[in-house]
Amino acid sequence: MKGNKNHSVAILGSGESGMGALRLAVKHGLKAFLSDSKTIPVHKQRLIESMGASCEEGVHTLDKLLKYDEIIKSPGIPDTATVIVELKKAGKTIISEIEFASRYTDAKIIGITGSNGKTTTTLLTTHILKEAGLNVASAGNVGNSFSDLLIDDTPEVIVLELSSFQLDGVIDFKPDIAVILNITPDHLDRYDHDMELYADAKWRLVQNMKKGSHFIFNADDEMITKRVDRNDLPFDKIQITTRSKTSNGAYFLEGYLIFDCEKLIQIVPIEDLPLLGRHNQYNQMAAILSAIQLDVAFGDIMRGLSTFQNAPHRMELVGYVQDIPYINDSKATNVDAVYYALDAMTKPVVWIAGGVNKGNDYAQIKALVKNKVNTLICLGNDNKHLIDEFKNDVTILIEVKSAEEAVTRANELAQPGEVVLLSPACASFDLFNSYEHRGDAYREEVLKLKKNKEVIKA
Ligand code: ADP
Repeated sequence: MKGNKNHSVAILGSGESGMGALRLAVKHGLKAFLSDSKTIPVHKQRLIESMGASCEEGVHTLDKLLKYDEIIKSPGIPDTATVIVELKKAGKTIISEIEFASRYTDAKIIGITGSNGKTTTTLLTTHILKEAGLNVASAGNVGNSFSDLLIDDTPEVIVLELSSFQLDGVIDFKPDIAVILNITPDHLDRYDHDMELYADAKWRLVQNMKKGSHFIFNADDEMITKRVDRNDLPFDKIQITTRSKTSNGAYFLEGYLIFDCEKLIQIVPIEDLPLLGRHNQYNQMAAILSAIQLDVAFGDIMRGLSTFQNAPHRMELVGYVQDIPYINDSKATNVDAVYYALDAMTKPVVWIAGGVNKGNDYAQIKALVKNKVNTLICLGNDNKHLIDEFKNDVTILIEVKSAEEAVTRANELAQPGEVVLLSPACASFDLFNSYEHRGDAYREEVLKLKKNKEVIKA
C-alpha cells in the first residue's frame, strides 16, 4: 500500500490526527477525502482545498466514504458510532492514524501506553534521549500527531504516547520498544464497562512485536502480568517493579532504584531523580530502561534526568502560602492517579476533589483518605458520590463551586503542617473546559492568595 499512488483514504474527523493524516496522505500522493460530522473551521477548509483534497462537514455520507479503499478514524469516534458500524458492515478496513503513519517511517519507535503516566514518561524519555544527543521527537497523544511528525525530516527515534483509542485501530503497527505502565479503570464507557476489553486495547501495542524488540512492563500490575503469563511472547520482557526484585529490569529497594538487565547493573538513589512519588518511580524506570535499550551511556541518562521538568498539572508544586504547600494535580482524572498522589503525601492533606464522576470506585483510596485527609473540599456541580463515600472518613467536608472558592476555603481550613492538594479523581467538564483550565484556574488563585498574604505581611 505504501507508495501506491492509486490507494485512496477517507479520513473521519478534522482534529489533530485527522488533519495530520490528510497532510501525510497528500504528501505521498494518495487520493484523500476528509469527513467530519461537525463543522470544519473555515481556515481548515481552505487548507484542505489548498492541498488539493476534498472534504464534507456536518455529515458522514456513507456512499462517498465507501468509494475510498481505506478509512482512517479519529480516536474520538467510538466503534458504536453509526458511521463506523455501517462502514464495517460494508466490509471496509478502518484503521487509526497511528497505523497509517507507521507505514511511512523507518525510525526507531518507542510506544508508551498505560492508564496513567503516559505523558510524563513520554516527555521524560524524549528529554533523556535528546540530552544524550539523539535525533528524537515525541508525538501521538502529546504534542503533534504521528503523521505531522513525518511531513518534514523524520527523526531517528520517535517516542509515541498512545491512548487505548489510538491503539484500537492498529493492525500491523509494531514499536521497537513498548512500554505498558499500568492498566487501571478509565474510559470504561468506551469498552462496554469491561476491564478486559480495555486491557485488550492496551495490549494491541505489543501484538505484532517480534524477537529482538523489547517490552517494558509493570510487573506489579495483574492486568498486565496475567497477559504476559498467558502468551508465549517472542520478545525481550523487561520488568519494572516496586514490590519485588527482578534480574531483567528495574526495581525499588530501600531508597534506591536498581537497574539489573543484560546491558548493565546500576544503582540510583531516589534523591537523584527529578520526579517524586511511587508512581513516578515506575515512570522513571521505564524511561531509563528505554534509553538503556538504545545504548545511551548511564552517565548521559543521569545528566538528562537532572534537567527534566515535567508538564504542568501533574503533581505540580504551585507554591507555599504561609508555609503551606499547594499542589496542582488537575490531570488526576481517575482514582488510580489520586491513589498515587495521596500515597506520595507526607503531611496531612486538605484534598480538593470532584467534577464529572466517570463511574469511580473509591475502594482503592478509602484507607489512604482515612489516614491522610483531614479536610475534603468538593469542587463539582454534583458532589453526592464524594460525600456519600467519604463523609465518615474526614473531619471537615465542604462543597464549593469555583477554583477561587476552593483556594480561599482551603486557606481558611488548612492547619500548620498540612498540604493542599488538588487531585480531582474526576473529569473537569462540569465547571471547567478541560483539566488544563481547572489547573490553571487553581494555580492563578493560589498565586493571587500568595501575593495578597505577602502584601499583608509586608
Ligand atoms: P497520562 O498521559 O497517562 O494521562 P500523565 O503523565 O499526564 O499521564 O499523568 C496523569 C495523572 O496520573 C497525574 O495526576 C499523575 O500524577 C498521575 N500519574 C502519573 N504517572 C502515574 C503512574 N505511573 N501511575 C499512576 N498515576 C500516575
